Amino acid sequence: MEKQAITGFPLRPGDKTLVCRDCGATFVFTVGEQEFYREKGLLNDPQRCPSCRAARRRERSGLPPREMHQVICAQCGSIAVVPFLPRQDRPVYCSSCYDKARAGTSS
Ligand SMILES: [Zn+2]
Ligand SMILES: [Zn+2]
Repeated sequence: MEKQAITGFPLRPGDKTLVCRDCGATFVFTVGEQEFYREKGLLNDPQRCPSCRAARRRERSGLPPREMHQVICAQCGSIAVVPFLPRQDRPVYCSSCYDKARAGTSS
């Protein structure tokens, strides 16, 4: 069985065109997918396009979007999480101390 669900591809009878509720893109809910959904006992059509579905799956898996590093704030000693790898020769601050430090030096 051929498997194609690319836009521009002529729809086969039974294929449904749906609109993603997240990004508004049109996507094809193919007969094969509809069968798959029925087998799984899913009665509703998919609400999102494949890419938004993949994005949501990634979100739900609990993986952070970027790698975070735990550091000790050089000012107050509390644990902070930063999206970059701290360098040994530079002090790292938590967000509140960072704001304070920046406000103090900007004048
Ligand atoms: Zn989408
Ligand atoms: Zn701090």
